[in-house]
Amino acid sequence: MAATTTITDCHCHLAMLEDAEGKISRAGAAGIGRFVTSALDEGGLEASLSLAKRFPGKVLVTLGLDPDDPGEVAAFERRAKLIRKNAKDLCGIGEAGLDFMHNGDREAQRRAFSAMISLSSELALPLTVHSRSAGKYAVGQLISEGAGKVLMHAFDGRPYYALQGAKAGFLFSIPPSVVFSGQKQELVKALPIESIVLESDTPSLGPVRGEPNEPANIAFAVDKMCELRKIGKEELLAQVGLNVSKLYSP
Ligand SMILES: [Zn+2]
Repeated sequence: MAATTTITDCHCHLAMLEDAEGKISRAGAAGIGRFVTSALDEGGLEASLSLAKRFPGKVLVTLGLDPDDPGEVAAFERRAKLIRKNAKDLCGIGEAGLDFMHNGDREAQRRAFSAMISLSSELALPLTVHSRSAGKYAVGQLISEGAGKVLMHAFDGRPYYALQGAKAGFLFSIPPSVVFSGQKQELVKALPIESIVLESDTPSLGPVRGEPNEPANIAFAVDKMCELRKIGKEELLAQVGLNVSKLYSP
């Protein structure tokens, strides 16, 4: 394949990987040359910013908070402060969102999510949204609170709710687990191609259930998506590249 487009891994956690530099270079060989790495705590932020310094323009950083455990109001207000302080070094906010898989405090999650939605508008930074067993609620809250640039990462809800998000202009990033996940495959078939981008969510959501993931595996997602959409690789990657540029304008 002629390497016309550099693929962006729109959501990953490079700082959680062993030998992140080695994995960045393996990804590069597979055509994935840009990484939006997400930090969820101060240690992760420091490690991510130092990777960004070593790979300028290649590694971009977002900072959010654990959707499963956003903590008390004071905790996410502190996080908002940290995001504001580092805003010039961030390309976005996230991940943040709703995770209803466990029996957490849903109201606390909604409040924290709301704070991140308004911070994303205030700082004009795109928001990467985590929603697990809560797709309908996450899309609903984003729309009702007037969220702007939104990336729904690894959306696990029904196409019906995804399409509401797509209509509101949200992008959806598809992970390598699309290789085996019927739900992700339905999503790829249902969404307009203008709403689709790629992510690894490294170290999770790899192409082999239960095995650690790395950004190079996005290549498997690309092949699967071409098959599902009956579209050539070049055409898919050109469109995905265009979609990414709407989210992270240079
Ligand atoms: Zn993630």
